[in-house]
Amino acid sequence: MPDMTPGVPSALSPLVRRIVAPNPGPFTGPGTNTYLVGIDEVAVIDPGPDDAGHIDAIIGASMRERVRWVLLTHTHPDHAPGTKRLVKETGAEVLAFTKKPKDGDVIPDRVINEGATIEGTEFGLEVLHTPGHAPDHLCFFLEEERVLFTGDTVLDGMYSVVNPTRGGDMAVYMQTLERLRKLRLSRLAPGHGDVIEEPRARIDDYLAHRKQREKQVLKLVQKGPAKVKEIVAALYGDVDLPDQLVEAAGWQVHAHLLKLKADGKVTGTTARSAWSAA
Ligand SMILES: [Zn+2]
Repeated sequence: MPDMTPGVPSALSPLVRRIVAPNPGPFTGPGTNTYLVGIDEVAVIDPGPDDAGHIDAIIGASMRERVRWVLLTHTHPDHAPGTKRLVKETGAEVLAFTKKPKDGDVIPDRVINEGATIEGTEFGLEVLHTPGHAPDHLCFFLEEERVLFTGDTVLDGMYSVVNPTRGGDMAVYMQTLERLRKLRLSRLAPGHGDVIEEPRARIDDYLAHRKQREKQVLKLVQKGPAKVKEIVAALYGDVDLPDQLVEAAGWQVHAHLLKLKADGKVTGTTARSAWSAA
């Protein structure tokens, strides 16, 4: 397995290098992955948190003038805040889905959307709009290697968080997964964790997990009124989850309830009473 030590660049293929940011945690695994695509002209995908050492490592891995673009999968605080420092050092152009991201203070230079391409001397990256985890989420497809940079849409070692209070939408997320599973891909390069060598199997696992959770949540609310907290407790039984993950599990349940309501499987009253304060 290529090195996942923060700050140490590792070559994943002739065109792709990865540097892990020093922000490990329950939502970030070993840390946020920053990818460098290309050699003569480099596109940096997700500079990660604003950490001087990490940004130095990115610049040290290329010559600074070679860094032409910063591509943001989304603007959550573990992916985008390092952008400013990196741009200051390199003058790279920042590309993202919207000029006015809801999170953080990164202002992209150029908006990119579905179907756009970034053409480097050695590579072409195609932009896919992949909402669900965040409404402005993008994935990037490296044509030469059929690798998909998935941001937080598909991860290694954990499931993605869909938090409705931060723009997450479970129904949209599942549509995005259905779409990605149909692509012919060789590997997934996720925002957290190692490279995924069997893209379709992983995406199928993600879909199966979500469908199973949806069923479980539906069953629990059909039994009678239940609060999100009670549903989380029932789902995890006696697994001793850290507080942060209990909270995140609550967001998932909330997201599933919204989807069930939109699908007409639970009433608005049932759904609302589940997430209203006890
Ligand atoms: Zn993330």
